[in-house]
Amino acid sequence: MPKIKKPKKKKEFPDHIYKHMEQIPSSMQSAYLTALRGRSMKASIKAFCQECTGWLKNEIKDCPSKRCPLHPHRPYRPDNEPKDRRILFRKERNE
Ligand code: SF4
Repeated sequence: MPKIKKPKKKKEFPDHIYKHMEQIPSSMQSAYLTALRGRSMKASIKAFCQECTGWLKNEIKDCPSKRCPLHPHRPYRPDNEPKDRRILFRKERNE
C-alpha cells in the first residue's frame, strides 16, 4: 500500500520572521509571536522592550530611558515606580 503524504502545515509567517526568531531566546519567543499575531498590546510592548535591550530581562527592569514612550508600560517595572512620568520628573527636579 503506498504511503500517503501528509500535507505540509502551512507556515504562519514568512521565512525572514523565523530567521529573526533564531536570535530570540526560546523563553521570549512566545511574546514575540503573540505580538506578531496582533493579539495583545501588552505582548507587543514586552516584545519591543525585549528586543530593545537585546533580550535581557534585568535591562528592561532598570531601563533608564524615561523619555521612551513605552517606559511607563514596560514589563518587569519595579512595584514602587510610578507610571505617571510627571511624578518621576518631579522627583528628578527635587520638587
Ligand atoms: S522602555 Fe526602555 S527597554 Fe522598553 S523600548 Fe523603551 S527604551 Fe527600550
